[in-house]
Amino acid sequence: MKGRKLLMIPGPIEFDPAVMEVMGAATTSHVAPEFIEIFGQALERMRQVWLASDGQPFAVAGSGTLAMDMAVANLIEPGDRALVINTGFFSDRMASILERYGAEVDHVRAPLGDRPSIEEVEAALRRANYKVMTITHVDTSTGVLADLESWAKLSCQWETLTIVDGVCSLAAEELRQQDWCVDVALTASQKAVGVPPGLALLVAGPRALEAFRRRRRPVANYYVDWNSWLPVMEAYEARQRAYFATPATNLVAALNVSLGQILAEGMEARFERHCRMSRAVKAAVSALGLDQVPARDDIAAHTLTAPCYPEGVDSGLLGHVKAAGVILAGGLHPDIKTEYFRIGHMGVTNFGDILATIGALEQGLMAAGYDFEPGAGLAAAQAFLLD
Ligand code: PMP
Repeated sequence: MKGRKLLMIPGPIEFDPAVMEVMGAATTSHVAPEFIEIFGQALERMRQVWLASDGQPFAVAGSGTLAMDMAVANLIEPGDRALVINTGFFSDRMASILERYGAEVDHVRAPLGDRPSIEEVEAALRRANYKVMTITHVDTSTGVLADLESWAKLSCQWETLTIVDGVCSLAAEELRQQDWCVDVALTASQKAVGVPPGLALLVAGPRALEAFRRRRRPVANYYVDWNSWLPVMEAYEARQRAYFATPATNLVAALNVSLGQILAEGMEARFERHCRMSRAVKAAVSALGLDQVPARDDIAAHTLTAPCYPEGVDSGLLGHVKAAGVILAGGLHPDIKTEYFRIGHMGVTNFGDILATIGALEQGLMAAGYDFEPGAGLAAAQAFLLD
């Protein structure tokens, strides 16, 4: 499409044409047999993508923040203690939601761009009897990847429920909900799940549902109450009619298509492809002489890259990159907002998109007057993509 820009931000991302086709198809009734089949299949597929064969999927109209709200509202009662492993802006958001529902919140923090060690997490878990621990798998504001498997398994040993914000990770970063003892894994449709914004998605494991059933007080939020949604999700999976609040029918149909594509690629291949795209972008950024927000390579997310502007270059760079055909995102973390930018690389993004992005970044850097060897970033990226 002439004049079309490549959208390489950390969500919303580029979407597959087959997904967009379903978005534009005639809307059916939410209780039509063909829609019941689609919704039922989408829920079954969620379980497979989340790698949670014992989990209960929920898909409701809303964004990632609503999925966070749903997880917390159903599990927290006033006075419950919660531990937030804080790696940035979205961990702070989770803490605000926990507090809104009356939780007493403690944080384990690391310096900006870093993540706490397993020893720090364990020391924190020792301090109090936490009902819930929250982890931002990838904090989109810093590009830091959590040590999810270790932290979640540890939390399990302490009989603390783990809620994972997987909005910037799920269906791209390795996340094995059941094996890693994650009790709730949530996301939104517009990132690696590959569907336009509008769906809040969540899978609750058996321990989370058990804790929910033991609640003493009603859920303080009407729309997200699992008492209302559980029968609906169960009915669709049993291919029966049900209604609580109208599902986003076209988005659900698009979700089913996208999840089908994700499963056709295979979860292992998908995790691997995201690692490879990430390595290519990070190698390119380094070859161009740009630092990154994450303190070390081994804690950097594979769904986005967060490069710092080089000396003498500011956010005007993004306008030059856009003129070269690629849309990138500015900084988000309030403490360093003007010092870095973000490149998303997830979902249907392919190796050609990565090269186009690095090419546009080089053109933008040149237009911004930055001194570097043209082609250095492209060569570094190619080396990983050709492998
Ligand atoms: N958590 C993370 C890690 C995110 O990246 C985002 C969105 N960028 C959210 C939560 C909130 O999601 P939404 O904007 O869809 O409400």
